[in-house]
Amino acid sequence: MRKKIVAGNWKMNCNLEETKSLLEEIKTESSTLNNDVQLIVSPSFTNISTAVESLKNTNIKVAAQNVHPEEKGAFTGEISVDMLASVGVKTVILGHSERRKYFGETKPILNKKVNTALRHEFDVIFCVGESLEEREKNNHFKVIEEQLDKSLFYIKKETWSKMIIAYEPVWAIGTGKTASAAQAQEMHSFIRELIAQKYDQKTADELSILYGGSVKPENSAEIFAQKDVDGGLIGGAALNAKSFIAIANSF
Ligand code: PEP
Repeated sequence: MRKKIVAGNWKMNCNLEETKSLLEEIKTESSTLNNDVQLIVSPSFTNISTAVESLKNTNIKVAAQNVHPEEKGAFTGEISVDMLASVGVKTVILGHSERRKYFGETKPILNKKVNTALRHEFDVIFCVGESLEEREKNNHFKVIEEQLDKSLFYIKKETWSKMIIAYEPVWAIGTGKTASAAQAQEMHSFIRELIAQKYDQKTADELSILYGGSVKPENSAEIFAQKDVDGGLIGGAALNAKSFIAIANSF
């Protein structure tokens, strides 16, 4: 059975005090959770240990927003899988469109990052998504297929149990524009079908595919009601505990 997941991508927000209070609020609000959704939060690297500590007696997981593909060495300013694992973090978001756009993360770089993360038994939330121009040219299916093909379709069948895909149309991230529930379902079903073709139906059926892009309590129920949508990767609305938990409660 695939898992329902609501993950918060905190991006470059929240200093230490803000992190502590947001975590406290999320813990309080999560007492109203009415389903078995897996919650994940992803604070900045500087606050990640604080988050692990604060959430240690809860079911809420902590994810990193990035990791370096190499194990260690002369990579000034970077963070390794071992550093994350050593503070209790075993989940990482990779392939976010902001990392692709602002930090030059190409498909081959992401391929390496995924490899390293899986070798260290991390769970990976892998983001894919097309730009507005690509959608308007009707290239969106091809773009998503290529992103999956070049970065993920070499991994072993067994390791798909460690993968979560987040479909995040770039035009819907932080813009207030959401894909319609039908557009989300169409792409999620396309992704699942690709995995079924490349691997097998069971692998595809067990994969959680999240939708991301301006999800808020007002639109989450309709999106999450789609057959192939297993939850959300939430940016802005994840910085408000009440909204984050309301989204999780909208399954
Ligand atoms: C994101 O950055 O992953 C995201 C979905 O952001 P927002 O919800 O703010 O559009």
